[in-house]
Amino acid sequence: MPETRTLLIIDDCPEDRRIYRRYLLKDPHQSYQILEADSAKDGLALFQEILCDVILLDFSLPDMTGLEILDQLKQETFEVPAPVIMLTGQGDENLAVQAMKKGAQDYLSKQRLKADVLQLAVRNVIQHAHLQSVLSQTRERQRLIIQQAELLAQTQAALMREQKLNAFKSQIITTVSYEYRTPLASILAAASTLKQHGDRLDESKHQRLLQIIEQKARQMGKLVDDLLVFYQFDLNKAQFKPQPLDLCHFFSDLIEEQREKLSSRHELIYKMTGNHKDFWGDGLLLRQIFVNLMSNAIKYSPDGGKIEFHLIGNDSQVIFSVKDQGIGIPIDDQDNLFQAFSRGSNVDTIPGTGLGLAIANACVELHGGDIALESQEGKGTKVTVTLPKRLLI
Ligand code: ATP
Ligand code: MG
Repeated sequence: MPETRTLLIIDDCPEDRRIYRRYLLKDPHQSYQILEADSAKDGLALFQEILCDVILLDFSLPDMTGLEILDQLKQETFEVPAPVIMLTGQGDENLAVQAMKKGAQDYLSKQRLKADVLQLAVRNVIQHAHLQSVLSQTRERQRLIIQQAELLAQTQAALMREQKLNAFKSQIITTVSYEYRTPLASILAAASTLKQHGDRLDESKHQRLLQIIEQKARQMGKLVDDLLVFYQFDLNKAQFKPQPLDLCHFFSDLIEEQREKLSSRHELIYKMTGNHKDFWGDGLLLRQIFVNLMSNAIKYSPDGGKIEFHLIGNDSQVIFSVKDQGIGIPIDDQDNLFQAFSRGSNVDTIPGTGLGLAIANACVELHGGDIALESQEGKGTKVTVTLPKRLLI
């Protein structure tokens, strides 16, 4: 036999209450502790004191209608309303339907009431309430599990960001301490030569030392700039602000800028073909891509040679490439070069931090494009960037 249930009868007719009690206590499937109230006021007071599993509610009580009692019950039992079975007199069926709309679980007509009908109705609403509570507990448990999983994912993401940041910080310390020492030593040596022997040096030596200072200081400045730029990408804080760009103008200006960095052994060739109209891009990011590819082409072809820039466009894409005839990249090193701080094993004393391609790659990604590298050691390198004319977000 299942556990004893507490049932509250609110009915002003003692005879009716006696009948319900008798019917229910005869139920072979369920045992009840039965409480009685002969008015709405007493019924509500009892309900507040004792936790009931089900209420049998007479529709017309002297001090309140059944609908008013339902409203009161709702106010008092916010989350777990006790199931209510409304008992109606003849002709009250319409009101009973209203009661159901207000939250009553069932209604029975007093006139046709039989023991088995009442027993079954009460057992049903108890079972229904039980299932409801199991369901809401399950939902609550599910909600908690989802909440915990979300919290866990957030914590893990924060932890990973933290780990990445820490790795990045220690990489910065290593890089800065290593990459700064060499140019700094050159600057200090040049400066101290100028200070001690400046008056005895001829003009060309003088100029050479000043040039070293300027060049090494620029190198150190670039390192800091690149670290800051890359740091923004690493924190996902880099902004992508596309606007219409006239690529012919844009690249022509940049090429003229780069021309100044070429040595007399280099020959710069550029070609712009196809349709590159209606391109939307972020000028600052595009500049990062171009300058990094171009500076690599110049830097890694110390013996000079041709440096070719080619821009081609079609209806939906623009493709540009930078090609040199420099030292190339050993095949085994080629896979990781878009990762920050990775460098080819053949760079020898050519200065660099290993950030340029990582920055270029991040800028290409923000444009929704693609970057690819082909290289042959000792022969040269070609980097090709493909960008959609307009990124559809
Ligand atoms: P920086 O941060 O100053 O650009 P970096 O040039 O070393 O330093 P990346 O531009 O990211 O860094 O290039 C990574 C590596 O890829 C380089 O160190 C070099 O080994 C190789 N590399 C890139 N471009 C070329 C190229 N055109 N020719 C030969 N090697 C290249
Ligand atoms: Mg570089």
